[in-house]
Amino acid sequence: MSKSLTPEKINDALNKVYDKVKKKKTGKVASYIPELAKVDPKIYGIVIVTCCGKVYKIGDFKKTVAIESIAKVFTLCMALQHHNKDHIIDKIGTQTSFLPFNSVLALRLSDNHTINPFVNAGAIATASLVKGKTKKSVWKNIHDNMNNFAGKKLKVSEKTYKSEMKTNEHNVALAYLLKSYGKFYNDVEDTVDVYTRQGSVMVNALDLATMASCLANDGVNPRTNKRVFKKKYIPFVLSTMLGGGVYEYSGRWMNEVGIPAKSGVGGGLIGVVPGKFGIAVVSPPLDKHGNSSKGVATFRELSRRLDLNMFHEKAECQMKNKNRKCI
Ligand code: GLU
Repeated sequence: MSKSLTPEKINDALNKVYDKVKKKKTGKVASYIPELAKVDPKIYGIVIVTCCGKVYKIGDFKKTVAIESIAKVFTLCMALQHHNKDHIIDKIGTQTSFLPFNSVLALRLSDNHTINPFVNAGAIATASLVKGKTKKSVWKNIHDNMNNFAGKKLKVSEKTYKSEMKTNEHNVALAYLLKSYGKFYNDVEDTVDVYTRQGSVMVNALDLATMASCLANDGVNPRTNKRVFKKKYIPFVLSTMLGGGVYEYSGRWMNEVGIPAKSGVGGGLIGVVPGKFGIAVVSPPLDKHGNSSKGVATFRELSRRLDLNMFHEKAECQMKNKNRKCI
């Protein structure tokens, strides 16, 4: 990874990538949740928030979309604050999945049924691990946690929430099926309600990049200087993102982009470059995997121009001591 990033290089890359990708016209906005179909497909914004709290931005960085599956990252963080990593591995798992994010078949075929915290089954089960005496207090924990990552109070779109609740039979079915396998840890209806609410939180590219930057910055929000997450769990969260953050595209993403990421069907996409910055793109039209079409193209281009791919380390031998002799 490039050790010589400068503000000029970052600004230049942002401008060039934005101009190039803006022309791309592929993808369709999600419509299986009726409210999502009403979003403006032209929204396109990119933001980078560095570990020093510096913000680089271009395009529609203030336009909001529903966070949808990106919320799963932060609910995983919340569950990790209440339980330890081994508990999450045991109760949820870290299996990758080659089937769609809400697949019943994947749930049935997988040994642990929950699969991982980012497919719907595992994500709803992860929400069921968040502590709280009532549904309201579980939601408060999840919402406060997202607010801390964003450094501001994020609003819920009641319209999106209601629209998804009305058409939520599939997620409810996944949750009951998990319960039948003994893999659900709280009340089904209440948890699905909270899970649906977390996906209806409205975010813009600046919010998302700020949230991602906390994971790049050892768990401290670089814009508020507040610790929002335990440093020791960050490798677990990032490796889980790498394994399944962009649905069935995750394998190819590792090859082409090579940074931990998570997308949502609202059109947001975040990436974390550890020790450097968080990146977010918002553009609602999705590709066939459910990832923002422009988002994927943007990350591909940014990774190439700024040399961000963690698998592209220079072949210079790092195994040398002070005397430049190989260990
Ligand atoms: N709330 C959406 C669902 O459960 C999230 C899907 C996504 O963004 O992948 O279907």
